[in-house]
Amino acid sequence: MENEPILSVRDLATSFFTRRGEVQAVRGVSFEVRPGEMLGLVGESGSGKSITCMSVLRLLKAGGKIKAGSAHFEGNDLLALDEETLANLRGNRIGVIFQDPMTSLNPTLTVGEQVIETILRHRQVSRDAARARAIELFELVRIPSAAARLKSYPHEFSGGMRQRVMIAIALACDPKLLIADEPTTALDVTIQRQILALLKDLQQRLGMSVILITHDLGVIAEVTDRVLVLYGGLVMETAPVRELFARPAHPYTVGLLDAVPDLRDDTHRRLTPIPGSPPDMLKPPPGCPFAPRCPHAMRKCVDERPPLFGTLHQARCWLHHAEAPKVDGIHEVAA
Ligand code: SF4
Repeated sequence: MENEPILSVRDLATSFFTRRGEVQAVRGVSFEVRPGEMLGLVGESGSGKSITCMSVLRLLKAGGKIKAGSAHFEGNDLLALDEETLANLRGNRIGVIFQDPMTSLNPTLTVGEQVIETILRHRQVSRDAARARAIELFELVRIPSAAARLKSYPHEFSGGMRQRVMIAIALACDPKLLIADEPTTALDVTIQRQILALLKDLQQRLGMSVILITHDLGVIAEVTDRVLVLYGGLVMETAPVRELFARPAHPYTVGLLDAVPDLRDDTHRRLTPIPGSPPDMLKPPPGCPFAPRCPHAMRKCVDERPPLFGTLHQARCWLHHAEAPKVDGIHEVAA
């Protein structure tokens, strides 16, 4: 069906086993990505947003273990596939872009070689055809003098141009899903804007779905269609982007929005931390993880983890229980 989700993640739980104990980074996250949409994953650092996507791709760092859940993509559960099939899907049907292109690109190879290698790894085409495709990709991501720039090394490019190369590599095999993990964080504001505009344009022109991971609500407001707010390894709120900004239904989201002085301000500054600290994921609280920082916390919040209330617009907060008090600034969730 046309509107079937392209990716469906259910009850994902991921932990890191360290000398200090089990860090419960993701604790039962579920979400869907629909065809052609850009989904934003937002939260402070340690909220679980990147670990959620790295779990889906099975690219966890040492000590990481997926404990439960499923991630269905084009009929396959990515969490159950053998390594070879999964490696073929990554970089082919699923493209990935990371924050720092300098650490992802090989400094000893020309950028052209790196794009051509990716194409040859996944497609049965001649070297000439791969080179022609590389030029096409550089033109697609608007690298000027595409054919000539294939011969450049990564250090000969600016940060923004290197990120364009990474996007070209991620798009090399026409992925259906692109996962972009903080793709503009290392760039200055003007270049950030250009890269975001490019991603949005490519998403629309190529009909791709995109998951954009960011700590920046300005980025979310600018390009995403729907948002997932994460905190303490859980989804706290999810809604279409305009609805989330106009009618936030979770005290954590309200705190995030209050921490950004003006979303039309073009500085895209980092989120000012909400007073207090995120929970210690070695010993996550049994109730709402936001309770120690929440101005509306009740006894029940400390004792019992709230479920997600609502359907189209969801919030994990006891304030949406039928018997809870009404609180100014916390909007009702849409059924
Ligand atoms: Fe605050 Fe309670 Fe809602 Fe958590 S469940 S956000 S502590 S009101």
